[in-house]
Amino acid sequence: MKRKTFVLFPSLGVGHLNPMVELAKHLRRHGLGVVVAVIDPRDDDATSGDAVARLAAANPSVTFRILPAPATASPDPGAHRVRRSLDTLRLANPVLLEFLRSLPAAVDALLLDMFCVDALDVAAELAIPAYFFFPSPASALAVFPPPPDKESETTKIRLYQFKRMMEGKGVLVNSFDWLEPKALKALAAGVCVPDKPNPRVYCIGPLVDAGNKVGISGAERHPCLVWLDAQPRRSVVFLCFGSQGAFPAAQLKEIARGLESSGHRFLWVVRSPPEEQTTSPEPDLERLLPAGFLERTKDTGMVVKNWAPQAEVVQHEAVGVFVTHCGWNSTLEAIMSALPMICWPLYAEQAMNKVIMVEEMRIAVSLDGYEEGGLVKAEEVEAKVRLVMETEEGRKLREKLVETRDMALDAVKEGGSSEVAFDEFMRDLEKSSLENGVCS
Ligand code: UDP
Repeated sequence: MKRKTFVLFPSLGVGHLNPMVELAKHLRRHGLGVVVAVIDPRDDDATSGDAVARLAAANPSVTFRILPAPATASPDPGAHRVRRSLDTLRLANPVLLEFLRSLPAAVDALLLDMFCVDALDVAAELAIPAYFFFPSPASALAVFPPPPDKESETTKIRLYQFKRMMEGKGVLVNSFDWLEPKALKALAAGVCVPDKPNPRVYCIGPLVDAGNKVGISGAERHPCLVWLDAQPRRSVVFLCFGSQGAFPAAQLKEIARGLESSGHRFLWVVRSPPEEQTTSPEPDLERLLPAGFLERTKDTGMVVKNWAPQAEVVQHEAVGVFVTHCGWNSTLEAIMSALPMICWPLYAEQAMNKVIMVEEMRIAVSLDGYEEGGLVKAEEVEAKVRLVMETEEGRKLREKLVETRDMALDAVKEGGSSEVAFDEFMRDLEKSSLENGVCS
């Protein structure tokens, strides 16, 4: 049988690119051919551009192809971010089509990010089977999209994307069976599209960056990793809020006070407040944090501007708890390091992720106060940090994380549920190729 070749098409943003690259690595480990076709991120945030270069350098076994970005991101320059992103992805169809036609060998399947739904038209034109990759939890697929406001433009776009996702041949989910039994039961019962056969769901995760600690000399490591090397085991509170998380100055000051009064060590990734991001992308820490904070905490804390190598940080044995915005990649990365979490959801499906993380999976506790744009007070930050780091409840949380990590490791080992699901996906693909008369 000829080696199968897949083209992976991530949507915009690091939170979608990172897991797609993990999927690419997974396919390569199974001996499959892979090309990741990325729309030139020059019109997107600078972080994505850096990420493509970094991921390409770190993963020589994966072929990346940068597709030219459409001349205009959206027919409506004033459009909302979610609309612009949908428009950009749709306007990229001609370059995706041209790129696929230019490949020397036939493509066996297109694996599309959950938001790249209009690429289905390209797949149909070239008669390539299209599957979706869902980098959020299966629970989010089962209730997709959580509509806080049915009339909002974002909800309408998400509904459109969801409906089109159901046109795919199947959905690969970055999760594992043990973690989300309720959602998977609902999905198996056909909750997505009533009265119609639902696309098959394959939980093939967790696919997360395992880091690259071995063989890296101290000189090449990020300063925050070197700093962590000098901290006691499980002593550090790590705070990082995804690729987009940012707080107003008043909130940054509350966090700083809470950390300081907790007395615990910390590593904190800080961005400029949302309203300053275009004018001052580099946060002015002296102005944004309480007077004297950096000086007073210089022996016990480290503040990193904008970006830290999170996949490696969460694996570091000095880290004891992760204050997270509940992005699914961050959650899976923490699970694979058996790291308890403190939830502070900010955008997208994170509020729902928080509920399942705290109430169902029991791998996290939540902060109070952020709802409806409120401030999380310094006392609350201190209380939750102390709860996880110092109390019996924190110890139990850690135990639950160890169990969850072990179940995740079981899922991805040979014969585990995620490997079995991946084999089923390959078999189904093979079957559908044969039914369509494609010889391989
Ligand atoms: N990330 C990182 N450093 C940072 C912030 C984020 O390496 O300072 C990575 C993180 O490890 C994860 C991804 O960016 O792989 C963020 O994905 P997630 O789903 O957690 O959140 P999103 O950015 O989509 O909101």
